[in-house]
Formats: sequence, structure tokens, C-alpha cells
Amino acid sequence: MKKLLMTLLLTFCIGCTYTLLNETNMNVSAKSTKETIMIDAGHGGYDVGSISNFDDYEKDINLDIALLVGKQLKSYGYNVVYTRTSDSVSWPSDNKKDLQARCNLAQKKNADLFISIHLNSSEYDASGYEIYCDFTNKTTVKLSNSILTQLDQLDYSTNRGLLDTNETPLYVVANNKVDAILIEAGFISDDSDLYYLKNYTNNIAKAIAKGIKKSLN
Ligand SMILES: [Zn+2]
Repeated sequence: MKKLLMTLLLTFCIGCTYTLLNETNMNVSAKSTKETIMIDAGHGGYDVGSISNFDDYEKDINLDIALLVGKQLKSYGYNVVYTRTSDSVSWPSDNKKDLQARCNLAQKKNADLFISIHLNSSEYDASGYEIYCDFTNKTTVKLSNSILTQLDQLDYSTNRGLLDTNETPLYVVANNKVDAILIEAGFISDDSDLYYLKNYTNNIAKAIAKGIKKSLN
């Protein structure tokens, strides 16, 4: 009887260990298959980007959005890397070298996606958000549409749609070896867009992250 009990106990323990090991393996493989996403806060350091009517720098708002997008994507389990996480930049004060360094980083970090975050500016009355992508790249068109759908739900400004980088080449999209898009999250020159961008930054970031997640699922 004692022997039978021991055998039963042993079988039970082996069963537990097997299940636990299997679960561990599943978690490891689930994690390792998640995409690596590079978030690029536009401008930075020597390059302030556009300036608002209240002297806000585009580079600072871009960074605020970028860090929050990364935080949200991490909470979804993605591997997140950044081109910069502060105002100190790793590239020289030269626009072309600056943009090429961002493309190189995407490759070096084995990113699956490169998401560049910017704000628009105009001397005329203009507002809204838009996304630049390569119209011949189905992955990035789907991704961009998915992000626009999420931004629409915030109802903070106008959806200006998708723009083709084959018509308007943008360095970090056109010269990137990694699938890349560039989001113009609003007009820094428009006071209403700016108000939302500064006060509801997390809403914008969460919408972008959710759009990415939905497109990758
Ligand atoms: Zn910009």
C-alpha cells in the first residue's frame, strides 16, 4: 500500500513538472516570437524641429509621445527599442548623418518595424494627423491604416489620411531596410492640435500602440 502511494505521488510529481516545463517553454517561445519595434522620436539635440506659437519644440513633444508609445507596446509584450530616449543624441549635428544613423540603428537592433513620430507645421491654417508610408508595401499600409483608425476614435482633429513616400520621399522611410512609417500626429502650429498633443499625450500614444498591436495580430 505504501509502495502504491509512493508510485502515485511520484507519477503526480512528474506530471506536475512536465506541465510546468511545458508552460515555461510556451511562455519563452511566445515571448521570443514577439516583434521588435523601434520607436523614433523625430529631431532631438541640435535639431529642435518645428516650434509652436508658445515656443514648444517639436523634438520634446515627439519624445514624450515616443516614450509613452514604447511603454504601452512593452506592456503588450513587444520588444521595444528607441533611436533616442532623451534630448542627447548619439549622432553628429548633420541632418543627413542624423537620419542615416536612425536607419542604421533599426538594422543594428534587428527591428521588425520602425515608427517615426513627428508633428507637422504650417504657416497657413492647417490641422490634423497623417501617416507617410510606402504604398507598395502592404504591411506598412495596413499598419498605417490601423493607427489612423485608432487616432480617429480620439476625435481630437482631422484625419488627413495616408501619404505615399514614393511621391514624397522621406529619408527614414525611403532609406530604411526595416519596414518604416512616419506619423505626423498633429500640427504644432495649430493651437487646438497642440493643446491635445500636450495635455492628452498618453491618449495619442495609446492609440498609436493599439493600432500597431491590432495590425500585427
Ligand atoms: Zn518633424
